[in-house]
Amino acid sequence: MEESRKPRCIICNEQKDGLGIKPDAVVGTLRWLNGHTFKYKNPYRPVVCRGCFLKYRKSRATFERKRAIYLVIGIVFAIVLVLASKGNAYSLLAGLGVIAFMYLLSLINYVPELDMPQKTAVNAAAGPAGQNPKIGRKGSKS
Ligand SMILES: [Zn+2]
Repeated sequence: MEESRKPRCIICNEQKDGLGIKPDAVVGTLRWLNGHTFKYKNPYRPVVCRGCFLKYRKSRATFERKRAIYLVIGIVFAIVLVLASKGNAYSLLAGLGVIAFMYLLSLINYVPELDMPQKTAVNAAAGPAGQNPKIGRKGSKS
């Protein structure tokens, strides 16, 4: 069913084949919301085409960095809140709320993860020219 839909690049919006999106919690939630509220069925399968890969990697890295910053701000704020109120239950809840809120804020720039091992992705991006020795090579998070 998933595979019968046409692929469309999420960066250039052209109908090209490419690397599929990894269904994570955010993608799942959006799909669920779509299915239950708008009854809108996306005729396209979101992918990132080869030509847009480097662009995608950049925006994904930006998103990940922003999300980390937002979360740190949220956590610091929550800790300050709890400490300032000498750790009462309400401040703890409010703190969790702040962290959740900051996380949601970070999703404004949401860029989905691609469904493929990172090493292969880097090779695909380097292409035949292979002139990209410095594509942010992060180790796998576990
Ligand atoms: Zn594209």
